[in-house]
Amino acid sequence: MRRPSPPRQEKRPSGNIGAVRRSRCCGTVSRMCRRPQIDASPEATARIETILGGFGRGALRATAAGGTRIVHLNDGEGYASRSRVLRRLGARVDDWPLPPAGLFVVEERTIYLRSLSPMTVAHEFAHALDCALGGGVYLSGIDPRVREAFGAAQRFVTPYAACGLDEYFAECARAWVGANDPHSPWPRATRARLRAVDPAMATILEGIFRQYLAA
Ligand SMILES: [Zn+2]
Repeated sequence: MRRPSPPRQEKRPSGNIGAVRRSRCCGTVSRMCRRPQIDASPEATARIETILGGFGRGALRATAAGGTRIVHLNDGEGYASRSRVLRRLGARVDDWPLPPAGLFVVEERTIYLRSLSPMTVAHEFAHALDCALGGGVYLSGIDPRVREAFGAAQRFVTPYAACGLDEYFAECARAWVGANDPHSPWPRATRARLRAVDPAMATILEGIFRQYLAA
């Protein structure tokens, strides 16, 4: 995220998704884990887990089974120093005038976080959830219901939700769990607002959480 705007940029390398080896977490095969592996200080881990708790245990299990990892960058640490894929791609996001607050790298199934703001953590986690639900590609990109809702939307829960199918899913999922930053200039993303401005997507998300992510 470029403060004060919300989480921005995820790198979505394509073509090598199938080559990614599923990670392990907690010393056991990831599908048996109940939550994604988090590489962060104990304080940062607690903060991240609190935010992710809003998605529910089913979402945590689904992303863990999908091999999701979460990495909190240390102060001054760049994305490229932790992400082999970003180095390989030469993405140079660290050289941007305002590097993003968080990234989800599909090929690595990894969320990288510079910021631990609720918006950033929830937005990037929603990308990971989208990817896990799609079995390694974004569900939002292949589910005709989401495509139809996006194409027909007259209003969006946040301005960023209009940027593409993946951002649409991420921002609507963030609204579903009501993760917000106090100083964001955007409307508060809430379930009530999503139902009001985009009832079709609210219904889709309700079904996803009920059908696939029940605790
Ligand atoms: Zn995003």
